[in-house]
This record gives sequence, C-alpha cells and structure tokens, in this order.
Amino acid sequence: MQRIKLIADLHIHTIASGHAYSTYAEIVEAAAQKGLQAVALTDHGPAMPGGPHRYYFGNLSSLPEKERDVEILRGIEANIIDRDGSLDLPDDYLQRLDLVWAGLHIACLQPAGKIINTEAVLNALANPYVDGIVHPGNPDFAIDEEAVVREAIKRGKVLEINNSSFITRRGSMTGCMEIAREVRRFDGIVALNSDAHVAVKVGSSERALKLAAEAGISPERILNADLDRLKAFLKSRGKRRFREADV
Ligand SMILES: [Zn+2]
Ligand SMILES: [Zn+2]
Repeated sequence: MQRIKLIADLHIHTIASGHAYSTYAEIVEAAAQKGLQAVALTDHGPAMPGGPHRYYFGNLSSLPEKERDVEILRGIEANIIDRDGSLDLPDDYLQRLDLVWAGLHIACLQPAGKIINTEAVLNALANPYVDGIVHPGNPDFAIDEEAVVREAIKRGKVLEINNSSFITRRGSMTGCMEIAREVRRFDGIVALNSDAHVAVKVGSSERALKLAAEAGISPERILNADLDRLKAFLKSRGKRRFREADV
C-alpha cells in the first residue's frame, strides 16, 4: 500500500469535554504545526458527565471557519442514550454543526448485548443529522459489524477507526479489524482519527492507519486522506457551510 498522509483529524476533544486538557487555541496551533488542513472539534455531548451544556454547541458558530490555514469543523461526539438511537443534543442544534458523530459510551448507556447494541447504532444512523459512528470497534459494545457497515453505506455515512481505541479501549483490535474488513468488502468509507484529549495527540492516527492498510482499505476509501474528498462528503451530507463548495 502506498504511503498515505492524513490531512485532517476529525475527532478531537477540548477542555469543554470535562476530561480533556487543551483549549481551542492549543488544538489549532497543534494542527497547524503538524501540517493538517482540517480539524474537527468534537467534544462529548451533554450527557457525558462533565460534558458541555447544549449552548456550547449552539455557539460553535462563533468560531472562525479557518485559522492558520486549518479548516475548523464545528462538531460533536454525540452520545447514543437509548436503544432507539436517541442522541443527547436536539436536532435543531445538530443540524447547524459541520460534523456529527454518534457513539456508545458506558457513562451514557449500559451495554445490553449484541442485538440491542446494534439496534441502538442502526437507529442512530437513521438520524439524518448523524454523519458517522465513532469507535464502532469498541469491545465494550458488541455489535453486528456487517449490519452496521451496510447501514452506514446505505445512508452515505462513515465509520471511524479510532486510534485511541488501541490505547484506552483494551481489546479493540478485533472489532476494529472486523469493521475495516466489512468496509472494504462493501466499499464503504472510514475516517482514521486520533480522538485526542490533549493537543500533543492531534493528528496521531498511526495505528488506525496501519490497521486500515492491513485490512486492505484503499486510500480513496479514507475520508480524511484528501481535503476535496472530505469537502465533497460534507457537501453530500447537506452541510450548510459546504453546500456551495466547488468540489
Ligand atoms: Zn472523552
Ligand atoms: Zn468516544
């Protein structure tokens, strides 16, 4: 596989998450220094203990779209809070964001077995404002990987291979590899993200990149390996900011 350079990190936490350690300015500085063309600020949704109030997400529009040549995407890592796939931020907030991830976290929903976990994720994917699922390879929440990947593809959404999973979510390798293989089999797309909770980790996605390569995922299937591809995706997702983008 040819050498791939990731041009964006689409999953980053600031101090607003309550258990992360860097400010907006520090994240942008780190991204610029690492030569990234885009970063997504994706703090945890309000249901996470210590997480921001919904007004935090409402006010993200006050951030510049671009700083130090880095596109700043205003996002969220929303929590799936029940088996119906409900999220912890109302739709009228979600629809104003550039990137909406949904994910399962033990602090916000207890694992309930493969069938119910899968149902929760499939229902979250049915939310039109959700752009993709973060760390679907998390071993705490067994899911039917094929069903999730197929549903994501059907809806034009993305699945994440989360670099932090290999460090903080023990046993993630198997589930992440399964997701990556299914993405390859059905021609889906992945995002390879750091899930950084501190600025120095911004852009650190080497292990996710290695796993994607091992699974045989081609560079064209990696959302954050090309800025035009990323913008075209956001346009296809109906994001206001990219609606007029010439991609
Ligand atoms: Zn976190
Ligand atoms: Zn997460």
